[in-house]
Amino acid sequence: MHSTTPIASTIKKIVIVGGGTAGWMAAATFARTLDNSISIQLIESDDIGTVGVGEATIPQIQLFNGLLGLDENDFLRNTQGTIKLGIQFNHWGTIDSSYLHAFSGIGIDLGMLDFYHYWLRSQAEGGDSSLWDYSLNATAAQQNRFEKMERVSNTRLPGINYAYHFDASLFAQYLRRYCEQYAVVRTEGKITQVTRRRDDGFIESVTLENGATIDGDLFIDCSGFRGLLIEGALKTGYEDWSHWLPCDSAIAAPCAATEPLLPYTKATAHTAGWQWRIPLQHRTGNGHVFSSKFMSADEATHILINNLDGELLAEPRKLHFTTGMRKKFWNKNCVALGLAAGFMEPLESTSIHLVQSALGKLIDLFPRNNFVQADTDEFNRQLGNEYQQIRDFIILHYHATQRSDSAFWNYCRTMEVPDNLTRKLNLFKHNGRLFRDNNELFTETGWLQVLIGQGVTPNAYHPLADALTADQLSDYLTDIKTIVTKAARLLPTHQSYIAKHCAATTPPHR
Ligand code: FAD
Repeated sequence: MHSTTPIASTIKKIVIVGGGTAGWMAAATFARTLDNSISIQLIESDDIGTVGVGEATIPQIQLFNGLLGLDENDFLRNTQGTIKLGIQFNHWGTIDSSYLHAFSGIGIDLGMLDFYHYWLRSQAEGGDSSLWDYSLNATAAQQNRFEKMERVSNTRLPGINYAYHFDASLFAQYLRRYCEQYAVVRTEGKITQVTRRRDDGFIESVTLENGATIDGDLFIDCSGFRGLLIEGALKTGYEDWSHWLPCDSAIAAPCAATEPLLPYTKATAHTAGWQWRIPLQHRTGNGHVFSSKFMSADEATHILINNLDGELLAEPRKLHFTTGMRKKFWNKNCVALGLAAGFMEPLESTSIHLVQSALGKLIDLFPRNNFVQADTDEFNRQLGNEYQQIRDFIILHYHATQRSDSAFWNYCRTMEVPDNLTRKLNLFKHNGRLFRDNNELFTETGWLQVLIGQGVTPNAYHPLADALTADQLSDYLTDIKTIVTKAARLLPTHQSYIAKHCAATTPPHR
């Protein structure tokens, strides 16, 4: 390598501010992947505590756990975890409607075409089969069944794709224990001051209430909604998306676990928001996400409590948020992760994934001590795109509705949406076209299920789907449905899978 400028020195010390899910995910990732000459220190305040919610994930979490080398059963046992095959959306398209956004593919593609074009053709010709009859994940979810299966044997049908539900606080503790095998230094204390360098405004150190000063080269802001470094010290700015996603509050409350143990999250729409139901081994997590412009907190609490399916286990807790993202996630020598980076409601369980994704990008662009602006800009560009793609997918759930029973739904149905979403909707509405932009998180199958589930029916399908005769089309669809039905029938129940492989050792709450 010939260079006139000397190579900048390496980062020697990373300081992570915050010990919630984001902070411990960061600590574990750095400990596992970086050179062990880099020191890692995490500061958390027991007085402030963590947000204490965040229990549903998407299948990408398996990559994170795989990177750390976690044993799946041990992880589920220690976090009261269960399996998640998808999300059931109730009352979104219309008050009577219900559909699943199931992970994994649907049907078996034929020739150059995705399966769903053939299904659209059958619908156009009067067929009445459900799209989800061709999804093993959806069929298994509806029957509360689960077993690991990569492919359905002797067929080209994709197997089961899954994520987890877990107790967020236990997950953070689990990662903390994981970090103990590495030299991660944990410091308990409340940061009361952030000091910036005079010359370039980079963060130099943080000072704790007890007067101790901790300096570092790279600071990771995982301080939650407050964004202690990225906003408090660096005044980075925030892009507010509440005009597209008007929910700004949530009431969260756990209730006793009920049987059967469902292998999916429920997202049930109400008149000014929606309610989550997340089944864990020891309890069920619930919350009502709502817009305070359209509903009072008292009413939201009342609705939540009246829609629990087990005994209330703790006082409902209120949380407030502003949907959007930081104008820069990485600013100078500070990278914000988790709630400090931005927030989107947990409708598609994407927040923990965004922490993981940001960490992957940070490792890819891991800086030297001179912090090259091109690297920082690239990180912000890539992560910003991911936030915006997820945002558009979440907006789709609100906008593609026929509900007109409340001012909230009237607003969502008639609001202007981002151009990119309008473009995607137009492509689908005419000829059922779906394209995954730049490897975006949600696949064509994800978009398809939400679009069809919310009642968006295309005028036509891909003309190549006409290549089959009517009999061929019928046989093709029937065969796939038969494979799915038979494969699902062989699976054990979710509850027996958990009992056999990963039952938590601590007893459940009553
Ligand atoms: P926090 O958990 O708030 O942690 C902040 C940390 O910073 C704490 O340790 C605190 O002590 C520390 N701290 C703050 N200030 C100081 C200070 N001055 N000195 C020292 N320490 C300090 N995500 C999902 O993926 N799936 C879900 O289903 C889901 N549901 C959610 C539901 C709701 C209502 C909300 C609000 C969020 C949900 N999330 C979900 C998001 C998820 O909870 C967060 O992304 C995740 O928990 C990460 O939080 P965090 O670590 O960024 O912040």
